[in-house]
Amino acid sequence: MIPVIPKTYELMGRQWTNKAVTPEEYLATIESSPIPDDSEAQWHADSGCCSLVFATNWVVPKKWGSPEFTTLSYFHELAHSLCFSMGRVEDGDHFTEREIELLGQLLYQYETSKKGEVKV
Ligand SMILES: [Zn+2]
Repeated sequence: MIPVIPKTYELMGRQWTNKAVTPEEYLATIESSPIPDDSEAQWHADSGCCSLVFATNWVVPKKWGSPEFTTLSYFHELAHSLCFSMGRVEDGDHFTEREIELLGQLLYQYETSKKGEVKV
């Protein structure tokens, strides 16, 4: 089962927001965005963005016609937000895109593979 993308979540006491946009809205957002093109926002050409400044992730659903791809893209942005929340920003101390992608895929794998409940 594909995990649900929540509307909000909290990291380090800060609320993050997830927004779904169409490819057209996403391109318009990139072109007119007040989001600084710097270390505190990670844009990806077709799939989404994570902004530390706005504590927001944008995801582009249906771009590739696959809910699973969209959700995987979301987990990639979630991984960026985790790293931002740990103070890892683009000054040589940010994880590489490859590490972010791996972390996102591992979070996705965890969410989709967990089974049962250990009573504690
Ligand atoms: Zn990224």
